[in-house]
Amino acid sequence: MSITQNYKHIKDSLPDGCKLIAVSKTHPIEVIQEAYQSGIRVYGENKVQELTAKYEALPKDIEWHLIGHLQRNKVKFIAPFVSLIHSVDSLALLKEIDKEGAKNNRVIPVLLQIHIAEEETKFGLSFDEARDILNSEELNSLNHIIIKGLMGMATNTPDEAEVRLEFKKLKAFFDSLKSISQENVRMEELSMGMSGDYKIAAEEGSTMVRIGSAIFGQRNYATHE
Ligand SMILES: *Cc1c(COP(=O)(O)O)cnc(C)c1O
Repeated sequence: MSITQNYKHIKDSLPDGCKLIAVSKTHPIEVIQEAYQSGIRVYGENKVQELTAKYEALPKDIEWHLIGHLQRNKVKFIAPFVSLIHSVDSLALLKEIDKEGAKNNRVIPVLLQIHIAEEETKFGLSFDEARDILNSEELNSLNHIIIKGLMGMATNTPDEAEVRLEFKKLKAFFDSLKSISQENVRMEELSMGMSGDYKIAAEEGSTMVRIGSAIFGQRNYATHE
């Protein structure tokens, strides 16, 4: 099947209100151009340099999401245009995004990345760490970010029950935060689900799935971080 057909097939299978982010990392500009022509407007990238290069080369009505780990010294490159940063995993990073948001005279939407998988290598906050950030005094003064929700990656395992359990826990945590009343916190988006597990994620309440290989085909080299 073509990229367009893959996209449409997945999109049609998602519940209402669950958005589809086409993860275009490692794929060249021409491939995204083709996808753009067929109407796909929201793309996810996991590396700042690649994201910035693609932003510069492609039409400006594309919504770019950063889904990979973000270093503080690289925030400035994406602050002018990024639509959503899925991978905020510290208060220090949040403050840096706020600073760059101010410089660019905009409010930058972000998600807190929560560690839900068994694997040690994946980035993310524990539930307690996330709650600490959301309740911190300092958050109040950050006027150029808005926390729109949470992101999580399940363990990469064929054990569907394990994956479902991890998504369920994240959804319960997400729901428990909806009562937070901070100006710059609005718990609306739950980014969970990739090519291998998006069906489970959608069933467990995901509002955003991030899908690469099931749309674009296998990547030539691993960029999993
Ligand atoms: C690469 C990546 C995806 C998409 O992975 P696929 O398995 O190709 O769908 C989703 N989320 C993050 C954070 C990624 O790095």
